[in-house]
Amino acid sequence: MKSLLADDHRLPERVLMGPGPSQIHPRVLQALSLPTIGHLDPAFVRLMDDIKQALRSVMQTENTFTLPVSGPGSLAQEACIINLLEPGDKCVICINGVFGGRMKAMAERCGAQVIAVEQAWGRAVDPQALRDTLQAHPDAVLVGFVHAETSTGALSDAETLAAVAREFDCLILADTVTSLAGVPVRIDEWGLDAVYSGTQKCLSCPPGLGPVSLNERALERVRSRRTPVQSWFMDFAPLIDYWQGEKRVYHHTAPVNALYGLAESLAIVLEESMPATWQRHRQAHEALAAGLQAMGLKMAVPVAERAPQLNAVEIPDGVDDASIRSSLLDQFGLEVGAGLGPLAGRIWRIGLMGQSATLENVQFCLSSLSSALEAQGHAVDASGAQRAAAAVG
Ligand SMILES: *Cc1c(COP(=O)(O)O)cnc(C)c1O
Repeated sequence: MKSLLADDHRLPERVLMGPGPSQIHPRVLQALSLPTIGHLDPAFVRLMDDIKQALRSVMQTENTFTLPVSGPGSLAQEACIINLLEPGDKCVICINGVFGGRMKAMAERCGAQVIAVEQAWGRAVDPQALRDTLQAHPDAVLVGFVHAETSTGALSDAETLAAVAREFDCLILADTVTSLAGVPVRIDEWGLDAVYSGTQKCLSCPPGLGPVSLNERALERVRSRRTPVQSWFMDFAPLIDYWQGEKRVYHHTAPVNALYGLAESLAIVLEESMPATWQRHRQAHEALAAGLQAMGLKMAVPVAERAPQLNAVEIPDGVDDASIRSSLLDQFGLEVGAGLGPLAGRIWRIGLMGQSATLENVQFCLSSLSSALEAQGHAVDASGAQRAAAAVG
Protein backbone atom coordinates (compact mmCIF):
# COMPACT_ATOMS: atom_id res chain seq x y z
CA MET A 1 0.00 0.00 0.00
CA LYS A 2 1.33 3.43 -0.81
CA SER A 3 1.56 6.19 1.76
CA LEU A 4 -1.75 7.55 2.92
CA LEU A 5 -0.25 11.02 2.52
CA ALA A 6 1.22 10.53 -0.95
CA ASP A 7 -1.69 11.83 -2.98
CA ASP A 8 -0.85 15.43 -3.94
CA HIS A 9 -4.30 16.63 -3.06
CA ARG A 10 -4.44 15.05 0.37
CA LEU A 11 -2.60 17.81 2.19
CA PRO A 12 -3.07 21.04 0.29
CA GLU A 13 -1.07 24.12 1.22
CA ARG A 14 -3.14 26.47 3.30
CA VAL A 15 -2.81 29.90 4.75
CA LEU A 16 -4.29 29.40 8.20
CA MET A 17 -6.24 32.45 9.30
CA GLY A 18 -8.96 30.77 11.28
CA PRO A 19 -9.39 30.21 15.02
CA GLY A 20 -6.48 27.72 15.11
CA PRO A 21 -4.41 25.88 14.22
CA SER A 22 -2.15 28.69 13.06
CA GLN A 23 0.77 28.53 10.65
CA ILE A 24 3.67 26.43 11.84
CA HIS A 25 7.23 27.72 11.48
CA PRO A 26 9.45 25.41 9.37
CA ARG A 27 11.81 25.10 12.33
CA VAL A 28 8.97 23.57 14.35
CA LEU A 29 8.12 21.11 11.57
CA GLN A 30 11.76 20.09 11.47
CA ALA A 31 11.89 19.65 15.22
CA LEU A 32 8.88 17.31 15.06
CA SER A 33 10.78 14.96 12.80
CA LEU A 34 13.89 14.58 14.98
CA PRO A 35 14.60 11.03 16.16
CA THR A 36 12.32 9.82 18.92
CA ILE A 37 14.10 8.93 22.17
CA GLY A 38 12.76 7.36 25.35
CA HIS A 39 10.55 9.58 27.44
CA LEU A 40 12.57 8.75 30.57
CA ASP A 41 15.93 9.08 28.82
CA PRO A 42 18.02 11.56 30.85
CA ALA A 43 18.41 13.65 27.70
CA PHE A 44 14.64 13.86 27.36
CA VAL A 45 14.20 14.66 31.04
CA ARG A 46 16.57 17.60 30.55
CA LEU A 47 14.47 18.76 27.62
CA MET A 48 11.32 18.54 29.78
CA ASP A 49 13.03 20.83 32.29
CA ASP A 50 13.94 23.29 29.56
CA ILE A 51 10.37 23.27 28.25
CA LYS A 52 9.04 24.05 31.74
CA GLN A 53 11.49 26.94 32.05
CA ALA A 54 10.59 28.34 28.62
CA LEU A 55 6.89 28.01 29.40
CA ARG A 56 7.41 30.01 32.60
CA SER A 57 8.96 32.82 30.58
CA VAL A 58 6.13 32.81 28.04
CA MET A 59 3.47 32.61 30.77
CA GLN A 60 5.24 35.25 32.88
CA THR A 61 5.32 33.18 36.02
CA GLU A 62 7.69 31.64 38.51
CA ASN A 63 5.24 28.80 39.25
CA THR A 64 7.09 25.50 39.68
CA PHE A 65 4.05 23.58 38.44
CA THR A 66 4.15 24.85 34.85
CA LEU A 67 4.04 22.10 32.25
CA PRO A 68 2.25 20.93 29.12
CA VAL A 69 -0.33 18.21 29.69
CA SER A 70 -0.58 15.56 26.97
CA GLY A 71 -3.76 16.63 25.27
CA PRO A 72 -5.32 19.62 23.53
CA GLY A 73 -6.50 22.80 25.21
CA SER A 74 -9.80 21.14 26.13
CA LEU A 75 -7.97 18.49 28.12
CA ALA A 76 -5.92 21.13 29.94
CA GLN A 77 -9.17 22.97 30.66
CA GLU A 78 -10.93 19.93 32.05
CA ALA A 79 -7.83 18.85 34.00
CA CYS A 80 -7.70 22.21 35.81
CA ILE A 81 -11.40 22.10 36.56
CA ILE A 82 -11.54 18.56 37.89
CA ASN A 83 -8.48 19.08 40.08
CA LEU A 84 -9.77 22.33 41.58
CA LEU A 85 -13.44 21.50 42.09
CA GLU A 86 -15.18 18.85 44.16
CA PRO A 87 -18.82 17.78 44.42
CA GLY A 88 -20.82 20.45 46.23
CA ASP A 89 -18.30 23.28 45.65
CA LYS A 90 -19.86 26.50 44.50
CA CYS A 91 -18.12 28.35 41.67
CA VAL A 92 -18.81 31.35 39.48
CA ILE A 93 -18.14 30.98 35.76
CA CYS A 94 -18.21 33.96 33.40
CA ILE A 95 -19.81 33.10 30.08
CA ASN A 96 -19.50 35.33 27.01
CA GLY A 97 -19.13 32.65 24.36
CA VAL A 98 -18.60 28.97 23.63
CA PHE A 99 -15.59 28.37 25.83
CA GLY A 100 -17.07 29.90 28.98
CA GLY A 101 -20.08 27.66 28.37
CA ARG A 102 -17.79 24.64 28.20
CA MET A 103 -16.14 25.64 31.44
CA LYS A 104 -19.55 25.60 33.08
CA ALA A 105 -20.43 22.21 31.59
CA MET A 106 -17.16 20.73 32.80
CA ALA A 107 -17.60 22.15 36.32
CA GLU A 108 -21.13 20.74 36.49
CA ARG A 109 -19.81 17.29 35.61
CA CYS A 110 -17.59 17.57 38.70
CA GLY A 111 -20.72 17.93 40.79
CA ALA A 112 -19.99 21.59 41.44
CA GLN A 113 -22.78 24.12 41.78
CA VAL A 114 -22.20 26.64 39.00
CA ILE A 115 -23.39 30.22 39.15
CA ALA A 116 -23.07 31.77 35.69
CA VAL A 117 -22.30 35.40 34.96
CA GLU A 118 -23.89 35.63 31.53
CA GLN A 119 -22.63 38.28 29.16
CA ALA A 120 -23.65 39.17 25.62
CA TRP A 121 -21.62 37.26 23.04
CA GLY A 122 -19.11 39.63 21.46
CA ARG A 123 -18.54 41.62 24.63
CA ALA A 124 -15.88 41.40 27.32
CA VAL A 125 -16.89 40.10 30.75
CA ASP A 126 -18.12 42.98 32.91
CA PRO A 127 -16.16 43.09 36.21
CA GLN A 128 -19.09 44.76 37.96
CA ALA A 129 -21.39 41.88 36.97
CA LEU A 130 -18.85 39.50 38.49
CA ARG A 131 -18.67 41.57 41.68
CA ASP A 132 -22.48 41.64 41.99
CA THR A 133 -22.65 37.87 41.54
CA LEU A 134 -19.93 37.25 44.13
CA GLN A 135 -21.72 39.54 46.57
CA ALA A 136 -24.82 37.38 46.18
CA HIS A 137 -22.75 34.17 46.50
CA PRO A 138 -20.05 34.79 49.09
CA ASP A 139 -19.59 31.02 49.53
CA ALA A 140 -18.18 30.58 46.01
CA VAL A 141 -14.69 29.05 46.07
CA LEU A 142 -13.59 29.59 42.48
CA VAL A 143 -14.06 32.10 39.67
CA GLY A 144 -13.43 30.97 36.10
CA PHE A 145 -13.27 33.10 32.98
CA VAL A 146 -11.95 33.02 29.43
CA HIS A 147 -9.36 35.72 28.72
CA ALA A 148 -9.78 35.80 24.92
CA GLU A 149 -13.10 34.21 23.88
CA THR A 150 -12.24 32.63 20.54
CA SER A 151 -15.88 32.17 19.54
CA THR A 152 -16.37 35.95 19.39
CA GLY A 153 -12.99 37.69 19.52
CA ALA A 154 -13.77 39.50 22.79
CA LEU A 155 -10.83 40.12 25.14
CA SER A 156 -11.70 40.45 28.81
CA ASP A 157 -9.67 42.39 31.37
CA ALA A 158 -8.10 39.44 33.17
CA GLU A 159 -6.24 41.61 35.65
CA THR A 160 -9.40 43.36 36.85
CA LEU A 161 -11.49 40.17 36.93
CA ALA A 162 -8.78 38.51 39.00
CA ALA A 163 -8.70 41.46 41.41
CA VAL A 164 -12.48 41.23 41.89
CA ALA A 165 -12.32 37.47 42.49
CA ARG A 166 -9.53 38.01 44.99
CA GLU A 167 -11.66 40.48 46.98
CA PHE A 168 -13.96 37.52 47.66
CA ASP A 169 -11.09 35.14 48.35
CA CYS A 170 -11.92 32.94 45.36
CA LEU A 171 -9.44 30.83 43.49
CA ILE A 172 -8.97 32.23 39.97
CA LEU A 173 -9.02 29.97 36.90
CA ALA A 174 -8.17 31.65 33.59
CA ASP A 175 -8.47 30.22 30.07
CA THR A 176 -5.56 31.64 28.06
CA VAL A 177 -5.75 29.23 25.13
CA THR A 178 -6.08 32.00 22.57
CA SER A 179 -4.60 34.88 24.57
CA LEU A 180 -1.20 33.37 25.44
CA ALA A 181 1.57 34.88 23.30
CA GLY A 182 -0.90 37.07 21.38
CA VAL A 183 -1.57 39.59 24.16
CA PRO A 184 0.10 40.00 27.57
CA VAL A 185 -0.74 37.21 30.02
CA ARG A 186 0.91 37.99 33.36
CA ILE A 187 0.11 35.10 35.65
CA ASP A 188 2.07 36.24 38.70
CA GLU A 189 1.48 39.98 38.41
CA TRP A 190 -2.27 39.51 37.99
CA GLY A 191 -2.54 36.80 40.63
CA LEU A 192 -4.04 34.12 38.38
CA ASP A 193 -4.02 30.92 40.46
CA ALA A 194 -4.58 28.36 37.72
CA VAL A 195 -4.12 28.92 34.01
CA TYR A 196 -4.40 26.63 31.02
CA SER A 197 -3.60 27.14 27.37
CA GLY A 198 -3.15 25.33 24.07
CA THR A 199 -0.33 25.05 21.57
CA GLN A 200 -2.03 25.64 18.22
CA LYS A 201 -3.14 29.24 18.66
CA CYS A 202 -0.54 31.98 19.22
CA LEU A 203 2.28 29.55 20.07
CA SER A 204 2.08 28.33 16.45
CA CYS A 205 2.72 24.74 17.35
CA PRO A 206 0.64 21.81 16.11
CA PRO A 207 -2.47 21.03 18.17
CA GLY A 208 -2.35 18.46 20.92
CA LEU A 209 -0.60 19.89 23.99
CA GLY A 210 -2.05 21.95 26.82
CA PRO A 211 0.27 24.12 28.90
CA VAL A 212 -0.96 24.57 32.48
CA SER A 213 0.40 26.57 35.39
CA LEU A 214 -0.74 26.43 39.02
CA ASN A 215 0.54 28.54 41.88
CA GLU A 216 0.87 27.42 45.52
CA ARG A 217 -2.66 28.52 46.37
CA ALA A 218 -4.11 26.33 43.65
CA LEU A 219 -1.82 23.40 44.49
CA GLU A 220 -2.87 23.69 48.13
CA ARG A 221 -6.47 23.30 46.99
CA VAL A 222 -5.52 20.16 45.05
CA ARG A 223 -3.60 18.74 48.05
CA SER A 224 -6.44 19.38 50.49
CA ARG A 225 -9.19 17.72 48.45
CA ARG A 226 -11.74 15.68 50.40
CA THR A 227 -12.28 13.34 47.45
CA PRO A 228 -9.90 11.87 44.87
CA VAL A 229 -9.86 13.43 41.41
CA GLN A 230 -12.28 11.24 39.44
CA SER A 231 -9.95 10.94 36.44
CA TRP A 232 -6.81 8.90 36.85
CA PHE A 233 -5.13 10.41 33.79
CA MET A 234 -5.86 14.03 34.60
CA ASP A 235 -5.02 13.92 38.32
CA PHE A 236 -2.23 16.50 38.79
CA ALA A 237 -0.63 14.83 41.82
CA PRO A 238 1.13 11.96 39.99
CA LEU A 239 1.95 14.31 37.10
CA ILE A 240 4.12 16.26 39.54
CA ASP A 241 6.27 13.16 40.10
CA TYR A 242 6.49 12.62 36.35
CA TRP A 243 7.38 16.18 35.36
CA GLN A 244 9.29 17.51 38.32
CA GLY A 245 10.11 14.78 40.83
CA GLU A 246 13.71 14.27 41.95
CA LYS A 247 13.43 10.83 40.39
CA ARG A 248 10.93 10.79 37.49
CA VAL A 249 8.20 8.22 37.90
CA TYR A 250 6.43 6.78 34.86
CA HIS A 251 2.93 8.18 34.52
CA HIS A 252 2.17 7.91 30.81
CA THR A 253 4.38 8.03 27.73
CA ALA A 254 4.74 11.71 26.95
CA PRO A 255 4.31 12.61 23.25
CA VAL A 256 8.05 12.95 22.72
CA ASN A 257 8.06 14.44 19.22
CA ALA A 258 5.16 16.77 19.95
CA LEU A 259 7.25 18.12 22.82
CA TYR A 260 10.19 18.69 20.46
CA GLY A 261 7.83 20.86 18.45
CA LEU A 262 6.69 22.76 21.51
CA ALA A 263 10.27 23.32 22.62
CA GLU A 264 11.10 24.87 19.26
CA SER A 265 7.98 27.01 19.11
CA LEU A 266 8.65 28.39 22.61
CA ALA A 267 12.22 29.18 21.57
CA ILE A 268 10.93 31.06 18.52
CA VAL A 269 8.51 33.12 20.64
CA LEU A 270 11.21 33.94 23.19
CA GLU A 271 13.75 34.79 20.48
CA GLU A 272 11.34 37.37 19.12
CA SER A 273 10.66 38.49 22.74
CA MET A 274 7.25 38.69 24.35
CA PRO A 275 6.79 42.47 23.86
CA ALA A 276 7.68 42.19 20.14
CA THR A 277 5.26 39.25 19.73
CA TRP A 278 2.42 41.20 21.34
CA GLN A 279 3.24 44.26 19.22
CA ARG A 280 3.22 42.21 15.99
CA HIS A 281 -0.23 40.82 16.82
CA ARG A 282 -1.56 44.30 17.62
CA GLN A 283 -0.18 45.81 14.43
CA ALA A 284 -1.53 43.01 12.21
CA HIS A 285 -4.92 43.36 13.88
CA GLU A 286 -5.04 47.12 13.36
CA ALA A 287 -4.13 46.72 9.70
CA LEU A 288 -6.80 44.05 9.19
CA ALA A 289 -9.49 46.04 10.99
CA ALA A 290 -8.65 49.16 8.95
CA GLY A 291 -8.80 47.15 5.72
CA LEU A 292 -12.08 45.45 6.56
CA GLN A 293 -13.65 48.76 7.51
CA ALA A 294 -12.48 50.31 4.25
CA MET A 295 -14.27 47.42 2.50
CA GLY A 296 -17.45 48.45 4.27
CA LEU A 297 -17.42 45.47 6.63
CA LYS A 298 -18.20 45.86 10.31
CA MET A 299 -16.22 44.39 13.17
CA ALA A 300 -18.47 42.51 15.60
CA VAL A 301 -16.71 43.51 18.84
CA PRO A 302 -16.40 47.09 20.19
CA VAL A 303 -12.92 48.48 19.57
CA ALA A 304 -11.79 48.53 23.21
CA GLU A 305 -12.77 44.88 23.74
CA ARG A 306 -11.12 43.24 20.72
CA ALA A 307 -8.63 40.42 20.92
CA PRO A 308 -6.09 41.23 18.18
CA GLN A 309 -5.56 37.55 17.37
CA LEU A 310 -9.22 36.75 16.61
CA ASN A 311 -11.14 39.18 14.44
CA ALA A 312 -14.88 38.68 14.22
CA VAL A 313 -16.39 40.46 11.25
CA GLU A 314 -20.08 40.67 10.49
CA ILE A 315 -21.23 38.96 7.30
CA PRO A 316 -23.05 41.56 5.17
CA ASP A 317 -26.72 41.01 4.43
CA GLY A 318 -27.33 38.86 1.36
CA VAL A 319 -23.86 37.29 1.41
CA ASP A 320 -23.74 33.52 1.63
CA ASP A 321 -21.40 32.54 4.45
CA ALA A 322 -20.54 29.00 3.42
CA SER A 323 -19.92 29.71 -0.25
CA ILE A 324 -17.57 32.61 0.54
CA ARG A 325 -15.57 30.42 2.93
CA SER A 326 -15.38 27.56 0.48
CA SER A 327 -14.26 29.86 -2.33
CA LEU A 328 -11.57 31.31 -0.04
CA LEU A 329 -10.42 27.78 0.67
CA ASP A 330 -10.68 26.36 -2.86
CA GLN A 331 -9.44 29.35 -4.86
CA PHE A 332 -6.96 30.93 -2.48
CA GLY A 333 -6.07 28.17 -0.04
CA LEU A 334 -7.15 30.53 2.72
CA GLU A 335 -8.86 29.24 5.84
CA VAL A 336 -10.99 31.59 7.91
CA GLY A 337 -13.36 30.49 10.67
CA ALA A 338 -17.13 30.30 10.71
CA GLY A 339 -19.30 31.66 13.51
CA LEU A 340 -20.32 29.29 16.30
CA GLY A 341 -23.63 28.86 18.13
CA PRO A 342 -25.85 31.93 17.85
CA LEU A 343 -23.21 33.62 15.66
CA ALA A 344 -23.19 30.84 13.03
CA GLY A 345 -23.84 32.44 9.63
CA ARG A 346 -23.51 35.93 11.13
CA ILE A 347 -19.75 36.37 11.51
CA TRP A 348 -16.45 35.22 10.08
CA ARG A 349 -13.59 34.69 12.47
CA ILE A 350 -10.27 35.80 11.02
CA GLY A 351 -7.36 34.59 13.09
CA LEU A 352 -4.06 36.42 13.34
CA MET A 353 -2.37 33.95 15.62
CA GLY A 354 1.34 33.39 16.08
CA GLN A 355 3.16 32.94 12.77
CA SER A 356 -0.09 33.79 10.95
CA ALA A 357 -0.04 37.35 12.33
CA THR A 358 1.79 39.13 9.53
CA LEU A 359 1.03 42.16 7.37
CA GLU A 360 1.48 39.96 4.28
CA ASN A 361 -1.27 37.66 5.49
CA VAL A 362 -3.48 40.64 6.24
CA GLN A 363 -3.11 41.90 2.65
CA PHE A 364 -3.66 38.40 1.27
CA CYS A 365 -6.82 37.98 3.32
CA LEU A 366 -8.18 41.38 2.27
CA SER A 367 -7.57 40.77 -1.44
CA SER A 368 -8.94 37.21 -1.35
CA LEU A 369 -12.05 38.24 0.56
CA SER A 370 -12.61 41.17 -1.82
CA SER A 371 -12.47 38.85 -4.84
CA ALA A 372 -14.75 36.29 -3.25
CA LEU A 373 -17.30 38.96 -2.36
CA GLU A 374 -17.13 40.53 -5.82
CA ALA A 375 -17.64 37.13 -7.43
CA GLN A 376 -20.91 36.93 -5.48
CA GLY A 377 -21.95 40.34 -6.77
CA HIS A 378 -20.93 42.32 -3.68
CA ALA A 379 -18.74 45.11 -4.93
CA VAL A 380 -16.22 46.29 -2.35
CA ASP A 381 -13.40 48.83 -2.47
CA ALA A 382 -10.55 46.32 -2.70
CA SER A 383 -7.76 48.76 -3.37
CA GLY A 384 -9.06 51.10 -0.66
CA ALA A 385 -8.87 48.18 1.76
CA GLN A 386 -5.28 47.42 0.77
CA ARG A 387 -4.29 51.07 1.15
CA ALA A 388 -6.00 51.39 4.55
CA ALA A 389 -4.19 48.31 5.82
CA ALA A 390 -0.85 49.45 4.42
CA ALA A 391 -1.26 52.82 6.10
CA VAL A 392 -1.35 51.07 9.50
CA GLY A 393 1.65 48.87 8.78
C1 LIG B 1 -9.27 26.47 21.19
C2 LIG B 1 -9.75 26.81 22.55
C3 LIG B 1 -9.96 25.84 23.56
C4 LIG B 1 -9.84 24.38 23.30
O1 LIG B 1 -8.61 24.02 22.80
P1 LIG B 1 -8.48 22.68 21.89
O2 LIG B 1 -7.01 22.60 21.68
O3 LIG B 1 -9.28 22.93 20.67
O4 LIG B 1 -9.01 21.56 22.69
C5 LIG B 1 -10.35 26.28 24.80
N1 LIG B 1 -10.53 27.58 25.08
C6 LIG B 1 -10.36 28.54 24.14
C7 LIG B 1 -10.57 29.98 24.49
C8 LIG B 1 -9.97 28.17 22.86
O5 LIG B 1 -9.80 29.12 21.92
